[in-house]
Amino acid sequence: MDNEILEYLPDAIFLLNPEREIVDANQAAREILTPGFRDRDLALSLRHPEILEAVDAALKGEAYEQGDVSITHPVSRTFEMRAFRLPEGDAQSPGVAVILILHDITAAIQAVEVRRVFVANVSHELRSPLAALVGFIETLQGPARDDAQAREHFLSIMSAEAGRMTRLIDDLLSLSSVEANEHVRPLGRVDLRNILQNVIELLLAKTQEKSMTTQLICRDPLSEIPGDSDELIQIFQNLIDNAIKYGASGGVITLTLRHVDRIPDIGGPGVAVAIHNEGEGISPEYLPRLTERFYRVDKGRSRSMGGTGLGLAIVKHIVNHHRGRLTIESAPGEGSTFTVYLPT
Ligand code: ADP
Repeated sequence: MDNEILEYLPDAIFLLNPEREIVDANQAAREILTPGFRDRDLALSLRHPEILEAVDAALKGEAYEQGDVSITHPVSRTFEMRAFRLPEGDAQSPGVAVILILHDITAAIQAVEVRRVFVANVSHELRSPLAALVGFIETLQGPARDDAQAREHFLSIMSAEAGRMTRLIDDLLSLSSVEANEHVRPLGRVDLRNILQNVIELLLAKTQEKSMTTQLICRDPLSEIPGDSDELIQIFQNLIDNAIKYGASGGVITLTLRHVDRIPDIGGPGVAVAIHNEGEGISPEYLPRLTERFYRVDKGRSRSMGGTGLGLAIVKHIVNHHRGRLTIESAPGEGSTFTVYLPT
């Protein structure tokens, strides 16, 4: 495009003459058009009835047109469209009658959808324990009023359901606080080995309940790394807790700390902490979705173990906050390995 400023604008800009032929198009517009568009009717390079209608209206000098349109070439995107007529004889753009501007709003639409799904999920997750509580309260007020044994039983279920709601809210708060801080670099310095030992200690009772043992292997001498100690404690707490929940009873959880010259995908030196548990493992088709909020391979199983489905989403956000990487390797029957890479 002749005009350098228009050429590099992110919006797709098309300049059209009174015959609806394309006089010029900037870089973003050329991505959408089929090749050989210059001096040809817009309809030949962009077959989209609503856009053509808007341009025709603008050419006739009718009211300013605006609307959302979806274009599938080269990738599926949604644009806010504007077409307006230039004053006749505009000295700066001779021969141009109409300017068509397409502003990409795909990301904004996706963000609204993500928020909608998230709110629906949270409501759903809170509704089931709440419904259970209401049901048991009614039973205790009515049929089970004088039944001491039933009362004990129901109260213990109610306490478990209330605990589930508390955990869910705690996880939601962690997630939102990590998200809010994601763009600020962590300031502290941490000793990873120390953190891992503390988390192992913290989860010792749970580990013993399943007759499991945890071993920590340090392959390289490591010094302190930049990081937020509370957040890193949370990562390893979530990952080791999962290894206990989903690992085989009586099995060994192995934590391996080592230095890496290159963090996968992002490069640069770092440390890797691999958390391996024995057990049935995860089928490959589930792996890409594990860090999505509320995603669980087996919902009933996760619930029965007190899972909220938010643990790995929190881990992923904290890893991103540290400009690190999370990888997940697993094969059915061979257990799973979650590896956290952190830059040094
Ligand atoms: P949850 O609260 O359900 O544990 P997470 O976000 O921590 O939620 O994990 C999401 C899902 O990933 C779990 O429900 C489980 O299906 C799977 N998962 C996580 N860690 C492991 C593991 N070590 N072994 C097998 N499956 C796992």
